Amino acid sequence: MSKLTPPTRQKIGSRTRLVHAGRDTDEQHGFINMPPWRGSTVLYPTYESLSARSQRYTYGTKGTPSTDALESAWTEISGAAQTVLAPTGLAAIALALMTAAKAGDHILITDSAYLPTRQFCNTILLRMGVETEYYDPCLGAEITTLFRPNTSLVLVEAPGSQSFEIQDIPAISRAAHERDICVIADNTWATPLFFPPHERGVDLAIEAGTKYLSGHSDLMLGLVSANERWRKRLRETYDCFAMCPGPEDIFLALRGLRSMELRLREAERQGLAMAHWFLSRPEVKDVLHPALPGHPGHAIWKRDFSGSSGLFSIILHPVPEAAVAAMLNGLELFGMGYSWGGFESLVIPFNCASYRTATRWNPGGPALRFQIGLENIEDLKDDLDRGFERLRNAV
Ligand SMILES: *Cc1c(COP(=O)(O)O)cnc(C)c1O
Repeated sequence: MSKLTPPTRQKIGSRTRLVHAGRDTDEQHGFINMPPWRGSTVLYPTYESLSARSQRYTYGTKGTPSTDALESAWTEISGAAQTVLAPTGLAAIALALMTAAKAGDHILITDSAYLPTRQFCNTILLRMGVETEYYDPCLGAEITTLFRPNTSLVLVEAPGSQSFEIQDIPAISRAAHERDICVIADNTWATPLFFPPHERGVDLAIEAGTKYLSGHSDLMLGLVSANERWRKRLRETYDCFAMCPGPEDIFLALRGLRSMELRLREAERQGLAMAHWFLSRPEVKDVLHPALPGHPGHAIWKRDFSGSSGLFSIILHPVPEAAVAAMLNGLELFGMGYSWGGFESLVIPFNCASYRTATRWNPGGPALRFQIGLENIEDLKDDLDRGFERLRNAV
């Protein structure tokens, strides 16, 4: 899919790779970007080729030049053997779980997982005869104590959704692989640019492309990459569901890919600047950002990750809910809404206590999750400064 020679492709840096992956201008009449390929029917030239399905493209659900381009680019960037696409990040999670779990299995899901992941396990997988056990995200190699003869997969997510625990993924992977247990990672926060999942032992890595791959809050997409051990099984599962994203969404994802590292590095810089500023605020009890030396997972983060993105949480000193509402309601630059990874700053209040089962969430004050966008940092601080003033006045 890329016209780079194998030696060049071997040695190029990640930014060069993002520019070239999944793109061959010779095949596009010289145009830089591939157009969206739309289509269901693919014609076969002869009776024989139809009977044998002996051509690269056979039907709309089985792949198009658009899906090939994004899949091959993501495979290259992730250090994977195979990638399949999905219409949303959650669909990608479902696909990965359905690839590795079967009736009668016991599966281990981190207590810090994205809430809809739990809902999928607690409804669909439960109905299919799969027993889910939630585990403390701080477990590393000790995860073996939870293994049963029928344990088939461990799902990790680091940092944890909203709560930002860092997991020892290499240690969990080593333990799991001794028993051929599949390790699935939701790698959305770090992306393969800050955490190369398969190099760290992950078998199936999920990315909600909705976030940093899109980068513009106008796209929903999921990706699952697999190592050699799981590539066939993943493709087979994908083919059974045929949950294909649309060609325009793939087009937007490929466009986002080219600038993803620049945006991520900027998100990191902006996120850290805001995290440090929050640390200095008297209203803030704690900042949950793994790149801060005071974070309990900092040492593992430093060992395994090469960067941090622009999403983190803070804990406020105890105040009434109305004070938090007064703070958030008047914000002019921070929008309130779900998802993240776009160019604009966002904030949401959250409380993990209502759904956690293996660990207790008791941070000692109201919790807010921030997505830091590309605005001028001083403007963001001014907006929050006024927000903290409203908060103090409402106490
Ligand atoms: C947003 C998100 C998802 C789901 O992505 P959608 O495209 O919104 O379905 C999955 N995992 C994590 C960690 C997320 O933040």
